[in-house]
Amino acid sequence: MKKIKLAHLYPKLLNIYGDKGNVLALKCRCEWRGIEIEIDEINIGDSISEHDIYFIGGGQDLQQIEVSKELERHKEFLTQERDRMAVFLGICGGYQLMGHYYQPHNGERLNGISLLDAYTIAGDKRFIGNVTVKTDLTDNGTLVGFENHSGLTYLQGETEPIGTVLIGNGNNGKDMTEGARYKNVFGTYLHGSFLPKNPQFADYLIELAIGSKPEPLDDKIETLTHSSLINKKY
Ligand code: GLN
Repeated sequence: MKKIKLAHLYPKLLNIYGDKGNVLALKCRCEWRGIEIEIDEINIGDSISEHDIYFIGGGQDLQQIEVSKELERHKEFLTQERDRMAVFLGICGGYQLMGHYYQPHNGERLNGISLLDAYTIAGDKRFIGNVTVKTDLTDNGTLVGFENHSGLTYLQGETEPIGTVLIGNGNNGKDMTEGARYKNVFGTYLHGSFLPKNPQFADYLIELAIGSKPEPLDDKIETLTHSSLINKKY
């Protein structure tokens, strides 16, 4: 089994609500299967080389300004990585920067790197609470998590949602979509952190990265956690 290389983008700036837990979930779920995984933290000023998986967490508008400027330096390379089907996962603020732009309430529009055909505009209301999503991407058909964002994200072109909101707001609280996917680039508003509560989605990302379905794990605790959150409002 080949070694998986994961790049954790800007963890010192975009790691709100423990989004680093997503990297830990992928690390554990690989190591529990004997799949070697190397995790490289990429910070401001660092160069970026080829990786199998790229992860970027969420953050406040202020931190997004700095990361937006830095990401522009890597836009061409990361677009090439997307087009060779590398796996990306962006959470909330990181997700927003994977689209064309994020227009915060105050101040300049932040440029994204357009890995997703999507754009985000800050709304008047902050969406905070539990979210349940119906999805075709996992056998159990659901994704759960926690949202806290004022950004309203709209999808265009061939960029599809990762699911339909059953509880909560998702991308914009209007079209009942949540998250986005184009090729192997995924974005979601679900914090929690997301992957530990959605082990089947974590394994789907690993499958895309290694090119084969990973052997099943004993997910009793993860499944109990996931089930306890389905349709949970508060
Ligand atoms: N600052 C962005 C917003 O408010 C993203 C927030 C986040 O990452 N939780 O929409």
